[in-house]
Amino acid sequence: MIASLLDKGIKNWAVLDVMRTTPRHIFLDEALAHRAYEDTALPIGFSQTISQPYVVARMTEAVLAGRSGRLSRVLEIGTGCGYQTAIIAQLADRVWSVERIQPLLDKARKNLGLLKIRNVRSKHDDGSLGWPEYGPFDAIIAAAAPQQVPEELLQQLADGGRLVIPVGSERGGQELRLIERSADEFHTQILEAVNFVPLYLGQVQY
Ligand code: SAH
Repeated sequence: MIASLLDKGIKNWAVLDVMRTTPRHIFLDEALAHRAYEDTALPIGFSQTISQPYVVARMTEAVLAGRSGRLSRVLEIGTGCGYQTAIIAQLADRVWSVERIQPLLDKARKNLGLLKIRNVRSKHDDGSLGWPEYGPFDAIIAAAAPQQVPEELLQQLADGGRLVIPVGSERGGQELRLIERSADEFHTQILEAVNFVPLYLGQVQY
């Protein structure tokens, strides 16, 4: 898996090292565990997927760039099974993560517990609203794609903070955007074409 990440251009050694030492098979059902170290997204139930390792690495690298290897406060939207959460939690002081499907959140909490990752706080809610009580954040990572960047997430970015988010529809194509805040200005960079599940607005499940 690491060879594939290097091949695809991941350069940050802190990110590569955390991905090398974090078991991905524990996040998957037994029937799929043998595919855990392929560089591909895989189903985790409820029509959702565990993110592709390359995409996790790319997003993590994007928010870490220029930060001497560590983040302070990170917000994640779309906990899923907790794989991206586990990676970013090892490169940040504290992580807040929001998931709209309760059984996935339960799984993620169990998985993070197995890995003894204790600097993550999570909740069952609509993540498009962010988590204003704990903002501003120096990084926000969204693992599901809205049609437009939610204003609430921009407002919860700290000065100099970065938001990495896929934008677009499943059919019409999506682009991964990196948005950096400087006072009240937002500078957007398009990183690459991606394929995420949709970010559902204003509704939680179960
Ligand atoms: N990084 C996760 C990716 C999970 S897929 C992993 O590797 O497992 C994206 C997740 O976003 C899904 O679990 C989905 O339920 C969640 N999601 C979609 N819309 C959401 C919303 N509005 N608020 C919170 N989570 C949302």
